[in-house]
Amino acid sequence: MTIQEFDINTSDVYPLTDSRQLLSPTPGGAAKAIFFAIQGEHHDGHRFITELYRKNVRQFVVETAALTPELRHELAQLPDARIWEVGSSLRTLQEWAARHRSQFDIPVVGITGSNGKTIVKEWLAQILAPDFRTQKSPKSYNSQVGVPLSVWPLNEQHTLGIFEAGISKPAEMQALQTIIKPTIGIFTNIGSAHNEGFRSQKQKVAEKLRLFRQTGTLIYRKSYAEIDEETHLLLKAVNPTIRLISWSTGQPAEVVVSFTHHTNGMLIRLEWEDRPYHIRVPFSDPASLENATHVLLAALVLGVTDEAVLQDRFARLRPVSMRLELKEGIHRNLLIDDTYNNDLAGLSIALDFLSQQDATRQKVLVLSDLLETGMAADDLYPAIARMITEKAVGQLIGVGPEISRFQSVFTVPSRFYATTNELLQSGYLNGLTDSVILVKGARRFSFETVINRFVQKSHRTVLEINLDALTHNLNFYRNRVGSQTKIMVMVKAFAYGSGSAEVASLLQYHRVDYLAVAYADEGVGLRENGIQLPIMVMNPSPQAFRQLIDYQLEPELYSFRILDEWLQFLKQEKPSMAIPPIHLKLDTGMHRLGFLPGEVAALGQLLKENPALRVASVFSHLVGSDEAEHTAFSQEQYRLLIDGAAQLESYLGYRPLRHLLNSAGIVRLPEFKLDMVRLGIGLYGVESSKLEPQQVQPIGTLKTVISQIKELKAGETVGYSRRGVLDHNARIATLAIGYADGYDRRLGNGVGQVWVNGVLCPTVGSVCMDMTMIDVTAASAQEGDEAILFGPQVPISDLANRIGTIPYEILTGVSERVKRVFYRE
Ligand SMILES: *Cc1c(COP(=O)(O)O)cnc(C)c1O
Repeated sequence: MTIQEFDINTSDVYPLTDSRQLLSPTPGGAAKAIFFAIQGEHHDGHRFITELYRKNVRQFVVETAALTPELRHELAQLPDARIWEVGSSLRTLQEWAARHRSQFDIPVVGITGSNGKTIVKEWLAQILAPDFRTQKSPKSYNSQVGVPLSVWPLNEQHTLGIFEAGISKPAEMQALQTIIKPTIGIFTNIGSAHNEGFRSQKQKVAEKLRLFRQTGTLIYRKSYAEIDEETHLLLKAVNPTIRLISWSTGQPAEVVVSFTHHTNGMLIRLEWEDRPYHIRVPFSDPASLENATHVLLAALVLGVTDEAVLQDRFARLRPVSMRLELKEGIHRNLLIDDTYNNDLAGLSIALDFLSQQDATRQKVLVLSDLLETGMAADDLYPAIARMITEKAVGQLIGVGPEISRFQSVFTVPSRFYATTNELLQSGYLNGLTDSVILVKGARRFSFETVINRFVQKSHRTVLEINLDALTHNLNFYRNRVGSQTKIMVMVKAFAYGSGSAEVASLLQYHRVDYLAVAYADEGVGLRENGIQLPIMVMNPSPQAFRQLIDYQLEPELYSFRILDEWLQFLKQEKPSMAIPPIHLKLDTGMHRLGFLPGEVAALGQLLKENPALRVASVFSHLVGSDEAEHTAFSQEQYRLLIDGAAQLESYLGYRPLRHLLNSAGIVRLPEFKLDMVRLGIGLYGVESSKLEPQQVQPIGTLKTVISQIKELKAGETVGYSRRGVLDHNARIATLAIGYADGYDRRLGNGVGQVWVNGVLCPTVGSVCMDMTMIDVTAASAQEGDEAILFGPQVPISDLANRIGTIPYEILTGVSERVKRVFYRE
């Protein structure tokens, strides 16, 4: 089948590339979906076809190379499915999007560059909102898959497109160019960082410039010499009529720009078509000024040239926050705070995030009028209504005159208020309990006040967990073990301090194979939060056996005593529910828990006599996978596990899963990966084999605020027992965190350093129970400023080294009284 035969009209369908985004759709919605099965680095879409079919998706694009006899057989079982077989699903999606794009003769802004793409796109859309109906990439959808998905919703009503294009390898831009076909280009900048995938900076610039092969106008900053050079050398050669708008603050350029200070920000000055422009912007950092200048020039090119209008709109620009934050609220509610943009695609992303949370809680959406969609209200609100139904929202609270006017189009239970105040005064919010609440509103509705209604008051120390970094780390280990080896993730000890239920929800979304906890209670907590993955309990006690059955938790059995107790329990109780399978731990050298090699034969015999006990896995734990000196011992442990498992298999007559490796083992000893690995600390941001530290990203940032600052003289002392003696006149800040929060007392007296405004400030005196003092003389700090105890700026392994412990202790030591805030960029 070729693309010519793939002749579906784009307006009749919508593309689906990630099977997880379709949850419990209405039959109508699913019928319009067309699923592109893509073989990615982490996922093979072909594995999810039957699942989607069950959810009423009927149209699939599949790849010839992926069509094994099994898959063909599977597809043959789907009666009324329509299936296209193509060489590459991704190519087909891209070609389809390119064809769709070519139907529209409107200005399209294409943005590439190392940094600032998303901000420039968002600001430009904000500035132009009154003049254009814009379709733009949601968030940073700028990849080979993201760009087609961004362009696809273009329709007759749009008068402008703004799309970003990002590449990581040579030859990727070609495809993006044909899909975006920008008429106006912005090349934001070029950074030196991360040249992975490219031979040189020049090659990277040259590749990015391909986006503008057919563009009429290109805006760039002349001081990026490589961009300027390659534009003249390469781009001009293939696109001789392109109008180049280079700008610069120092050297001669098409547009000479100056930045000067003024109250609360900066003034951008430039001349455009012989008219001077003075535009005030409410920030002064160099990156924001550069982004704002790109936006200003693009607006001028697009014909928005009235200085007063531009001044008014630029004065109202705000930093773009792309964070979706998940917080715990009062009355056992979870809150998703989405202060990000206010368009349909942003809503769709936020709703996906909502639906990933805890399946047992009611999903509530608090939504204001959407102001930046570029759609007519008659089309917009019915589209929102469909989306809400498809994403399984349980209840809608609409705020604003527009959404209220369209209340009849919503089919989920809903209520409407004309203003935010009216909602707050109604008291309705106070009655919400045990829900996940997505709060999403245009700025003018001031939904902070809604968030404040729910958020627990607490001291302002938080552990922020970056869910994108967590996903990145999971993918790193996934790639290492490959698709043939399962992954069990250790979420014991509150997911190494990161927050069990939220982490587990994300892992469930990413379809890991197993979770493991230390105690039955932890497993019960996960089940109560809607986790359905198989869960192994490493330390089951007879008192908790009942719970194992009730919550379908799988015990690890490690001795004849505990095995016997389990068998006795089953005999007495004769549970009516299914008996969960068991996991057998062999002691191959740790000498902690486990059956010794000499006990395996007797164990096999016992299991043979009790066939009702199903053995899900046989495993062992390495004592020294993080250090090269123990490799020979690890090999011996591996051999003992293999032998033990083979022996057990001969008694059982079937083969349970075998697993040995922890995080460090996955990197250091990949040849021992067997059927499953047990991922722990690596997921939480510490690459413990130390062989590939760069591949893993820190996920947690422990932060607090400065409560008070004092100017003290040399010779004075700080804290208990006068231990912090000052040898210089100093500014001393008191932080709202102490050892009871998990900031180790051994970090006192200069051992620990805290990051404040870009400066590492040493601790002074002893760490107290709830407070810590630091020397901020070198940091321009003020009361209320943020202080980072650990995070990307202060590596956990560094802290651990300083006090002679291991990162595990630092992570799990953060007290549960410290609020966890989860976010996605
Ligand atoms: C905690 C644990 C792991 C995970 O170890 P990491 O070093 O954190 O990857 C693996 N297996 C067992 C049995 C564990 O207790």
